[in-house]
Amino acid sequence: TVSVVLFTSDLRLHDHPALRAAVEAADEVVPLFVRDPAVDRAGFASPNRLAFLADCLTDLDSGLRERGGRLVVRGGDTVTEVCGVARRTGADEVHMAVGHSAFAHTREARLRRALAADGRRLRTHDAVTTVVPPGDIVPQGSDHYAVFTPYFRRWSGEPLRTPLAAPRKVRVPNGLRSEGPPTRASVPGVSEGLATGGETVGRRRLGAWLSRHADAYGTGHDDLGGDATSRLSPYLHFGAVSATEAVHRARSRGGQGAEAFVRQLCWRDFHHQVLAARPETATEDYRSRADHWRRGEEAEADLRAWREGRTGYPVVDAAMRQLAHEGWMHNRGRLLAASFLTKTLYIDWREGARHFLDLLVDGDIANNQLNWQWAAGTGTDTRPHRVLNPVLQGKRYDPDGAYVRRWVPELAELPGARIHEPWRLKGQDRAAYDYPEPVVDLADGLARFRHARGRD
Ligand code: FAD
Repeated sequence: TVSVVLFTSDLRLHDHPALRAAVEAADEVVPLFVRDPAVDRAGFASPNRLAFLADCLTDLDSGLRERGGRLVVRGGDTVTEVCGVARRTGADEVHMAVGHSAFAHTREARLRRALAADGRRLRTHDAVTTVVPPGDIVPQGSDHYAVFTPYFRRWSGEPLRTPLAAPRKVRVPNGLRSEGPPTRASVPGVSEGLATGGETVGRRRLGAWLSRHADAYGTGHDDLGGDATSRLSPYLHFGAVSATEAVHRARSRGGQGAEAFVRQLCWRDFHHQVLAARPETATEDYRSRADHWRRGEEAEADLRAWREGRTGYPVVDAAMRQLAHEGWMHNRGRLLAASFLTKTLYIDWREGARHFLDLLVDGDIANNQLNWQWAAGTGTDTRPHRVLNPVLQGKRYDPDGAYVRRWVPELAELPGARIHEPWRLKGQDRAAYDYPEPVVDLADGLARFRHARGRD
């Protein structure tokens, strides 16, 4: 007997319920990935994510080869390709993880119908994107949690699935055509410092980070220069690392840092459950504040300066330049950059979210759009009017200026925390630094925001 396993956003061999079920149910398995242009059209395709995807597929292929198999890659419409492969191999079952987006629901329904018409069956397995599937836990009288803390309390009490080991052997039928995995080198326009993708690197990172850095995470995760976070987000996004396994391993390790890390993983699930219940919040305000975002030429120029990392606020510029260089940004940097754009420059969060999605290797609709809304005060933040002051934040989270010095080298010579306020230098001292003046006075920005939100 033959089964097909369709990989989507679960590009791994460990803790993969669909793969496990297929291997157990059939003598031969076709591990299949379809490069579907519809996914690209739905906004997935950006150079950084395509390059990381290529790494993930190459690594998945090698892992399967070590187990006697290989990855079959096809380009085209998912339903057509899966049905074609099933027919060609005589597979009677196709296994895949359930998805939660509207796109995934439609794809699944189409596939189920097409396979049934051929006398075959689609078997769906645990969703593997989140730890707790969206909609599984809800408060009384609502279809989702709007506040994080009660969600976290409930989420923490949920039973955790035991992560599955990777299969030892995968036998793939002979004679199947495959394009082979794409290569990173074939993707133009990739950020120079982009991390290497794939399950092997992701698992190594998880293990090394938990054993060496987790203890410092509780106190150090906001330290911009210390760079103490796990950097697992892209691996989780592509499913190269299982979120369930990450929680499992962090809990077994224990300690405050590991617990704080688990709490952050819960934020991921939190945003996913909000988006699943309110899909329109990908583009619309979760809570409308009747904002009249700035538009026009001046706002355009400010937006450009923000994108290019030359707002004149060193910590904001450092964060934006890290994004351009690595396709990734520290969470504190994301918060600062987003607060600055939406509350100090008073520019629509959608503009910022779009730019982030163009570059972020971990960029996804749930976490990006809803974190942006959180930062803009249109989302689930229970203190929507708080504004992060980039100077105070810089001094607090980058006290010796290491982060700014790394990303804004033209200011590197400014000692200590003085790096956060280059405009305080006078005359020739100031002229020695080729760095822009602030695009806005913080007090003016704040006044504008307060005035605008006063209409709430
Ligand atoms: P760690 O601190 O090591 O945390 C571990 C994991 O927890 C992360 O890998 C991530 O999966 C999850 N996590 C941590 N913080 C958050 C959070 N606030 N929301 C959701 N999950 C979280 N994260 C994305 O995965 N994709 C995005 O597109 C994205 N866009 C963002 C946009 C803005 C404006 C902001 C403020 C945050 C955004 N985040 C996004 C959340 C967060 O910044 C990143 O997940 C985190 O920086 C990834 O780094 P890390 O893996 O080292 O995190």
